[in-house]
Amino acid sequence: MSRFLARTAYAPELPDYELLPFNFARLNEQETVATNLAGEMLVLPNATVDALVNHTLSIDDPAYVSLRARHFLRLPTDKSPIDLLALKVRTRYARLEHFTNLHIFVVSLRCEHSCPYCQVSRQSEDRESFDMTPEIADRALDLVFRSPSQSLKIEFQGGEPLLNFEMIKYVVEQAKARNLVARRDLAFVIATNLAPITQEMLEFCREHDILISTSLDGPADLHNKNRPRPGKDSWERAINGITLARQTLGVDRVSALMTTTQSSLPRVKDIIDIYLELGFTSIFLRPLSPYGFALKTKSFAAYNTDRWLDFYKSGLDYILEINRAGIAFAEDYASLILTKMLTSNDPGYVDLTNPAGIAIGAIVFNYDGGVFASDESRMLAEMGDNTLRLGDVQTSSYEDIYLSDTLLEALESSFTLSVPMCSDCAFEPFCGADPVYHHATMKDFTGRKPESEFCRRNMAIFKHLLRLMSSDKTTAAIFQRWANRC
Ligand code: SF4
Repeated sequence: MSRFLARTAYAPELPDYELLPFNFARLNEQETVATNLAGEMLVLPNATVDALVNHTLSIDDPAYVSLRARHFLRLPTDKSPIDLLALKVRTRYARLEHFTNLHIFVVSLRCEHSCPYCQVSRQSEDRESFDMTPEIADRALDLVFRSPSQSLKIEFQGGEPLLNFEMIKYVVEQAKARNLVARRDLAFVIATNLAPITQEMLEFCREHDILISTSLDGPADLHNKNRPRPGKDSWERAINGITLARQTLGVDRVSALMTTTQSSLPRVKDIIDIYLELGFTSIFLRPLSPYGFALKTKSFAAYNTDRWLDFYKSGLDYILEINRAGIAFAEDYASLILTKMLTSNDPGYVDLTNPAGIAIGAIVFNYDGGVFASDESRMLAEMGDNTLRLGDVQTSSYEDIYLSDTLLEALESSFTLSVPMCSDCAFEPFCGADPVYHHATMKDFTGRKPESEFCRRNMAIFKHLLRLMSSDKTTAAIFQRWANRC
């Protein structure tokens, strides 16, 4: 016989609770994910959610305390939940105050590679009319230093930016000279295929603390097939460049990115093995984007979202296996999402931000002075669609660019808390707006989400990560580590 009377004998009967705004989605036969405006998330048994919405959830249910603490429900006597919820929502959007951290300088459109999936309509190596001039760079720097952000990152892209290394030197030196007065946290990155790298260039990178971000699509045969160049030695040059750059700058100053082509689809383990062999601690399994040469050469249409998702999920399984064997190695896209799901941080990854990161997260200064809302907007322009060309460094003021009707319309009409489907979606706090993708594929900044491959891919990944996490404690612990590395 129990030594205690029932709880109700010691406490007065509690009044019914009120539901605060939240969205939910069934994960499987047993579980539902619920999220709220502040990005709080709970994975609950289906029966608990049914009881919650029917106002029959008992205070003795283990989920009751979590739901109350995370502002999914409140008692009529609770005064603070609405204020706390509002505070957390404000915190979620606090980064907007410090907009435009990343400034991309396209110092040349020239490239010696001819990758069929290239997202930039590159020009052949000897056409110097596709190089940025000092006048354009100076005007672009004027705009960079108007940004209210304390941290300013300048990334050099192309074409192949090392083909105009003199301009990289010029921009770095000019930016550092201006920064003696401006006193921002200034950082530089070169996104390069590494084929033209020399020791002299690397010495300059060391002197100015410049990071290297390169492309590595997998083993030699796959990489060279994806990335043709004269001499058919793209992979050998990339590996030599990585080795040299690590020796000169340090191992952690060199990162690599891969792109998934049709040839990559059956090779996910080989691709991951190469990253492991080379000592990288993570890989970003990226799909092709519907821009530039990728579309012209039909590379984008070569595989659909389902095939890419199979590739992604088997890669993730393999990476989890590697972690269970005691080797710390992460998948970067999952890490970005898990950071948003499991911590209060937002890594600010442009594809996964709301409002969209176009211009207010990252902006592009093209070699010819054109200012674009994002890298993808520049790629669209190379295909003849200038919708997201926001101005010209030589003729447009800072206000012309950042208050342009096109930019404001793209940001407003893609804001996920007010667009159809996203505003009711349980995954909204982890997702992004991506108006450029939807404009490119549907000629509409909002996009019809039931038909959107961006939506389908992200939703499938969100569900997959949550299912993996809730089915296995070891996976949950590995995901916690990934969430805290961004
Ligand atoms: S794009 Fe799709 S997954 Fe993302 S918030 Fe909108 S509806 Fe949800």
